[in-house]
Amino acid sequence: MPRLSEYFLPTEKQPPSDAEAVSHKLMVRAGLIRQMGAGMWTWLPAGWRVHERVVGIIREEMNAIGAQELLMPVLQPAEPWRKSGRLGIEELFKLTDRKGSELVLAMTHEEAITFHVAQIVRSYRDLPLILYHFQVKERDEPRPRAGVLRTREFIMKDSYSFDRDQAGLEESYALHVGAYDHIMERTGLRFYRVESEVGMMGGLGAHEYMAPCAAGEDQIALAPGYAANVEVALRSAQVHEHGDGYRIGGEPLAIEPAIEVGNIFKLGTRYSEPLGARYLNENDEELPVWMGSYGIGPARIVAAAVEQFADERGISWPAALAPFAVHLVAIGAAGTLEHDAAERLYETLRDGGVEVLYDDRDAGPGEKFADAELLGCPLRLTVGRRAVESGEVEVQIRRGRKDAPGLPLAGEGAELLRAVDELWRSLP
Ligand code: ATP
Ligand code: MG
Repeated sequence: MPRLSEYFLPTEKQPPSDAEAVSHKLMVRAGLIRQMGAGMWTWLPAGWRVHERVVGIIREEMNAIGAQELLMPVLQPAEPWRKSGRLGIEELFKLTDRKGSELVLAMTHEEAITFHVAQIVRSYRDLPLILYHFQVKERDEPRPRAGVLRTREFIMKDSYSFDRDQAGLEESYALHVGAYDHIMERTGLRFYRVESEVGMMGGLGAHEYMAPCAAGEDQIALAPGYAANVEVALRSAQVHEHGDGYRIGGEPLAIEPAIEVGNIFKLGTRYSEPLGARYLNENDEELPVWMGSYGIGPARIVAAAVEQFADERGISWPAALAPFAVHLVAIGAAGTLEHDAAERLYETLRDGGVEVLYDDRDAGPGEKFADAELLGCPLRLTVGRRAVESGEVEVQIRRGRKDAPGLPLAGEGAELLRAVDELWRSLP
């Protein structure tokens, strides 16, 4: 567990001059991400910890529905894309190798997974099947923007389901709805699952997972018990224009900006037909495999969490995503009693398995508190002269900046660790 004096966490007082979105400003200022070019971003150590927390939650929920993790390449031959009819998409990066072979950088992996399944799956006994990976996507986005909300390179969890018929697809789809609901609940985000339009993927039905936030480029229509993509809502027979707004079943419809964090599709045979993914049924008849495709972007979940819970001082992570549980601030120069007490507390927490970032820097309390509030770890523990005198560590809960009762500084660590654990469980 890092000491801030040695940690690669470049915090900034000012946001980048071109930043508008809260998440863009705060993630750069807090030292989580750095830009390399238009739509090209590096995750710094603390930011990557948050990204990987989201990845961990997604992986657990995918495994729980029986999905199997693999890894497909980003660099791919152009041929499957020609077959699927997607080689002409403008967002798709195309290149040629030294021998003149046409290649693409995958923007999603339907072509790759269907290519493999076409070769490997033979019979109804091989189905159903759900495969997934976490892999880089490359997209020549027309307008990369808002830090990591819309980049040209990002990691996606994409899974693909393979079934023998439409009824099977509906089951695999329902499993994904359950997994995605759990993922979103566990992240601590405010979110809505809405019916969406099918778009470039083609297919039979789709839902989007939307996180309301000011930086969102999409709009969702909300009323009690109702949430939909705006285009879908306005085409729906239940929605009526009323005065200067819209209503559904008498209730006014609120239109809120939101960011799409996940997207699930019933593809049907859109890819299995052109790429030849077929199986033999019990009567030796050859039939196309029915597919679904399910994407989710950890980077957008991270940025949406920043957007939804930030205050004027900085980020306030949901407990499940925080880079560290505890931000321990030592006040007082090396060699003082309070500094020694902070060192001992750091060791107690670290050895007790608490994820702690220890601000042991030679800096003033103002700067340390400002950085702690900017980075947004759920609990801040402070050890200074006052703590040594009173025997109690000061505790602040980041969400709402509430003071919690002090924790015992002296004695064996067990009591303190129990108290930290109890406090941790009570957090949002
Ligand atoms: P959008 O409409 O916002 O462009 P999309 O429909 O292109 O999104 P999908 O192709 O369905 O998105 O990708 C699945 C998930 O990948 C999205 O829900 C989102 O979380 C993430 N994602 C898509 N494009 C980007 C991007 N440019 N930068 C970061 N994450 C992205
Ligand atoms: Mg897109």
